[in-house]
Amino acid sequence: MAKLSQHFDESEFLCKCCGTGHGFIQPHLVLGLEMLRDLIKRPIIVTCAYRCPKHNAEVGGVPNSYHVQGCAADIYAAGLTPYELAGQAARVPMFLNGGIGIYPKRGFIHVDVGLKRRWMG
Ligand SMILES: [Zn+2]
Ligand SMILES: [Zn+2]
Repeated sequence: MAKLSQHFDESEFLCKCCGTGHGFIQPHLVLGLEMLRDLIKRPIIVTCAYRCPKHNAEVGGVPNSYHVQGCAADIYAAGLTPYELAGQAARVPMFLNGGIGIYPKRGFIHVDVGLKRRWMG
């Protein structure tokens, strides 16, 4: 398995349905997650990052989703609410200038290094 950074392995970022995505994970996304990990001082669990187009369609993602481009991750961290985690994510330049979506009922947040957007799921 290929290490993407000190705390993240590529295997955590590959498509949940088929394991594809090798080489597609954007370095800025991983760098942002490392910075976020430093801020919250605890592990970040990646529930979904790269999605192949088929899996993306199955989970209702828009066709040009940043997940398909390897620019997005859905994450949570033990002991932090999605609101708290999103607040910390907004301190990371890549996510401050990218996308942050909060999914309180499902207990995770989406971060990406695409265009600047904010939403509540
Ligand atoms: Zn897949
Ligand atoms: Zn997402």
